[in-house]
Amino acid sequence: MRFSVLASGSTGNAIYIENDEHSFLVDAGFSAKKMESLMAGINRSMKELDGIFVTHEHSDHIKGIGVVARKYGLPIYANEKTWQAMDGLVGTIPLDQRFQFDMETVKSFGSLDVQSFAVSHDAADPMFYAFHENGRKLVVITDTGYVSDRMKGHIRGADSFVFESNHDVSMLQMGRYPWSVKRRILSDVGHVSNEDAAVAMSEVVEQKETHIYLSHLSKDNNMKDLARMSVTQTLQTCGIMTGEYVHLHDTDAEQPTELVTV
Ligand SMILES: [Zn+2]
Ligand SMILES: [Zn+2]
Repeated sequence: MRFSVLASGSTGNAIYIENDEHSFLVDAGFSAKKMESLMAGINRSMKELDGIFVTHEHSDHIKGIGVVARKYGLPIYANEKTWQAMDGLVGTIPLDQRFQFDMETVKSFGSLDVQSFAVSHDAADPMFYAFHENGRKLVVITDTGYVSDRMKGHIRGADSFVFESNHDVSMLQMGRYPWSVKRRILSDVGHVSNEDAAVAMSEVVEQKETHIYLSHLSKDNNMKDLARMSVTQTLQTCGIMTGEYVHLHDTDAEQPTELVTV
């Protein structure tokens, strides 16, 4: 299995996953044109995709869904409440491209198993995905207010994580956002901070080579260097030295990460 974080941040998110037989996206939070150029950035084409797994109906995750579904005839997977919430936001998606992916279930595509799991986020029925193939595991979790024990059960022991590291708490508190927005982000159904992400990660990584892609960084309340530094420091206080078996990677709001094998 191989993947690339095509782009991730508060303005849009899309993650590409492939094996030798199939290729998928998790979310398509950019215009069709931008999605095409992100895919070209890893020498792939929207035409080759087998489908898109939707996490939730926020625009930074579904902005391009309607257009790319129609343009490329792509199957779209989402749970029932997310479908209801998406209708009206993404235009008409033909019935034969609408697939239901229930919460906490597994769908298999050849040797690739895709597990959905619930997160705590202020959308209709948000869920993220863990991909399993040949004993290897990739977890994508970019929008959650906290990481529950149940979520930890699903994500524990992954070889690669695309993990939310949304904000620096003091930047958010000092920043220009209205208090209601700050309160939402800091709540249990908002986004995890750099420190909270690191504490959760310290509880789910196992003692093996693990790659963590810090994702969904807030444009206003975080910076790559700051996220990496505070995650590194917090992991260290939890007894994990980065660079030994845990490796941190940046993602970018505009540019794809290198296509790598899990
Ligand atoms: Zn969201
Ligand atoms: Zn988001």
